[in-house]
Amino acid sequence: MFLIKYFKRGYKGVLNILYPRLCLSCNNVLHDCEQDVCHHCLSGLQLTGFDYRENNPVYEKLSAIVNIESATVLFLFDKSGIVQKLIHNLKYNNSPETGAFFANSAIDYLSNPGFFTDIDYIVPVPLHPKKQRLRGYNQMTEFGRNLGNYFGVPYTEKILLRQIHTESQTKKNALQRRENVKNAFKIAEAEKYKGKHFVIIDDVITTGATIEACAETILYNIPGAKVSVLALTMVL
Ligand SMILES: [Zn+2]
Repeated sequence: MFLIKYFKRGYKGVLNILYPRLCLSCNNVLHDCEQDVCHHCLSGLQLTGFDYRENNPVYEKLSAIVNIESATVLFLFDKSGIVQKLIHNLKYNNSPETGAFFANSAIDYLSNPGFFTDIDYIVPVPLHPKKQRLRGYNQMTEFGRNLGNYFGVPYTEKILLRQIHTESQTKKNALQRRENVKNAFKIAEAEKYKGKHFVIIDDVITTGATIEACAETILYNIPGAKVSVLALTMVL
């Protein structure tokens, strides 16, 4: 027994020298006691606590425009840039480990008040098929899959679809963004999902225009549907 333990530790140690595990945010080598993100970066990540507050700013912002059940954001978008780095990693480096890290954070954070208790599907903001083909993945897949597995709810990219390839939103103001994504989405086989509750997941909420358009598309096309929103961070 002792020998097996010893061997395992030694093997792990050798592996760590050959392929050191790196912090998903700063790329420094992780200590044995650290997982995915080093202690320094982890201490810079601040959970929003929005859904434990009476005035939840993301819910207030979105529910003023569209009829949603609940909405929350995991981490504050702050100057340390750690959340931004992780999301950049997720978006441009196809890093499923980062998706899983965010999912574990969400599971720890959201199990309690029951954000996921009466939901039926987890759906990401879809990329246009062309863009997804080019990028090779949707950056929210691993996050959604992990959440779905944990809460026993299907994660699917086959219900909410993008039908128009919208121009980049980065240089547009709130009104232009809303106009830009107004008819961008559609639902596949809407009749099948009558009365279901969807959680739309996204990385960053900026003006909220994209999420609102997704929510409206679901509510408008699927009779009796309900929508909630979960994002990794939000630019307030
Ligand atoms: Zn780090």
